[in-house]
Amino acid sequence: MGGLLKGMALAAAFAVAAPAAAQEMGALARLDAERSFVRDGRLGQGAEMRLALSQGVPWRIFTLDDPPRLVIDFREVDWGPVDPSSLLAGEQVQTLRIGAFRAGWSRLVADLAGPLEVATAGLDVSEDGGGAMLRVSLAPTDAATFAAGAGAPRDPRFDLPEPAATPVLPPKDGLLHVVLDPGHGGIDPGAQHGGATEADLMLTFARELEEVLMRAGGFQVALTRQGDIFMSLEARVAAAHRAGAEVFISLHADAIEEGIARGASVYTLARDAQDAASRALVERHERGEILAGLDLSGADDRVAGVLMDLARQDSAPRSRALAEALVGGIQEQEGAVHKRPLREAGFSVLKAADIPSVLIELGFLSTDEELRNMQDPEWRARMARGIRDGLEAWEREDTAEAGLRRR
Ligand SMILES: [Zn+2]
Repeated sequence: MGGLLKGMALAAAFAVAAPAAAQEMGALARLDAERSFVRDGRLGQGAEMRLALSQGVPWRIFTLDDPPRLVIDFREVDWGPVDPSSLLAGEQVQTLRIGAFRAGWSRLVADLAGPLEVATAGLDVSEDGGGAMLRVSLAPTDAATFAAGAGAPRDPRFDLPEPAATPVLPPKDGLLHVVLDPGHGGIDPGAQHGGATEADLMLTFARELEEVLMRAGGFQVALTRQGDIFMSLEARVAAAHRAGAEVFISLHADAIEEGIARGASVYTLARDAQDAASRALVERHERGEILAGLDLSGADDRVAGVLMDLARQDSAPRSRALAEALVGGIQEQEGAVHKRPLREAGFSVLKAADIPSVLIELGFLSTDEELRNMQDPEWRARMARGIRDGLEAWEREDTAEAGLRRR
């Protein structure tokens, strides 16, 4: 904890001592990769980090456990085309990721080989506008000390907004309120293949699908994210609640590590039994949150909460009916779906128990053919029309059923 406090104290001191020029004009600080490095400390003990920035910015540093990670948050840093792994030398820091965390904020996450605490951390801002240098040194410690000092300090300047949100009732305007959730984003690019990322492709597809639904009439559409921004799974669900969603659709195109899979599939939340493939997919998505530097120490409680929510609600059969209608619509427009198109999995993002929620895997980014499909505007247009048709069919059926439920 001592090391962490020292780091925070230095960050605070910087905020006072920063020359006014550093805060002006809202210009982005840029990383100078040539003068930056992350390497092992003397005798291979601990690690040293230098990050050269074009100007000083507000920042903070902390560690997370399970697995051991170092997280540094910055205001307005443009990482440019730098491949973070090119900054790495040595073995104490195993991987380095940098990227957008939320609008105006960037995050650096370093995976540590073992328990390393922050011994010193400080940002030196040059008086003559010659940039700034962040210096961090990490020292070995024992697992118990590391665990005790780990955890993200709550700081409204940096943190994601509290995900808890009171559901907003959709206005009775006769429109079906759909929230589209493009998967991944920011520091979590999702699946990657041939230079394409799942995060980018899903945002593109979500915008096109929004357009198709708005043109069809009868829909009100909102997206959980508009840019290449990281969002936690809980924040996505909260955004759906805030938007008064009546239907929640999460859009993905993951990579699979084994075998060849083709075609779209639609997932609903599993109550209990999950097959191995579904489990692996869920693990990859929860791992995305670990990679993004989120503290998932309460993850077990969260899963339990999801299952309890579900048990209380009657939305599960409505979600399954929605999934069937979507598969039908896609099959009609695109002609082919996955050989087992209706799947169940314990995705946290499907936990809005009171809102019929599905996760559509449009295809698998790991397959060349499917990547080409997803990069083809015509193929995407067919998928969007299939989803539109599925939503319309489900709404007709659901309205009729609602009449029966009330009787
Ligand atoms: Zn995904």
